[in-house]
Amino acid sequence: METSSPQYQRLREQMVERQIARRGIADPRVLEVMRSVPRHRFVPQSVLPSAYADCALPIGEGQTISQPYIVALMTEALELAGHERALEIGTGCGYQAAILSRLVERVHTIERHAVLAERAEKLLIELGCHNVHVHVGDGTAGWPEAAPFEAIIITAAAPEVPQPLLDQLADGGRLVAPVGPAGFQNLIRVRKKGKRTTTQHLAPVAFVPLIGEHGWSEEDKGERGWRFWRR
Ligand code: SAH
Repeated sequence: METSSPQYQRLREQMVERQIARRGIADPRVLEVMRSVPRHRFVPQSVLPSAYADCALPIGEGQTISQPYIVALMTEALELAGHERALEIGTGCGYQAAILSRLVERVHTIERHAVLAERAEKLLIELGCHNVHVHVGDGTAGWPEAAPFEAIIITAAAPEVPQPLLDQLADGGRLVAPVGPAGFQNLIRVRKKGKRTTTQHLAPVAFVPLIGEHGWSEEDKGERGWRFWRR
């Protein structure tokens, strides 16, 4: 993977030290991958100077790339050992998928906006992330062709965890997702053991909505638009 330019390398090291390690992320594999993936390649030219800033950034189509700390927190919460088949819902610009590609065996990632999916796929290939498969569609249905997955990450806010994704989670698998309405979501981790699941709350977060058959719908959007979705 291209990680060039000492200047960007320095910005990444500062990002990991000040925004991520200092806030308690300790998994050395997660810290290492956050230090090496060139986040600046994933953001639009217009926000390039903020590529390593402590915030989410717009990526087009009204969508955002998450704050670096949240990417690290969700990645660590997946408790990856390296052998996993992972599924991501919400490819966006492909940054989270690139992070995962270095930590697992194979990544399937689904994006509903074809423009974003195509752009992400091209960049992931360019950066040598050959174990990532990008799909266009409604990720709330999962990707049954490649199931089960030991790790599932939803990077958009769901009203509740979509049942097809729980069904596609492997025995012993972890699913990490923001759950809740506009502006007020809980980041949760679901563990599956046999037929049982247990849920842990990790942090309050704010994501864009997961829109689809098992996500938020046009009716939930209401008259004031997608900024106010709730049931
Ligand atoms: N992980 C991304 C951040 C994505 S923002 C990154 O690293 O950049 C959330 C993304 O989820 C948006 O691109 C949005 O279009 C997508 N999304 C929302 N609902 C979806 C659905 N049902 N299926 C697939 N993608 C969805």
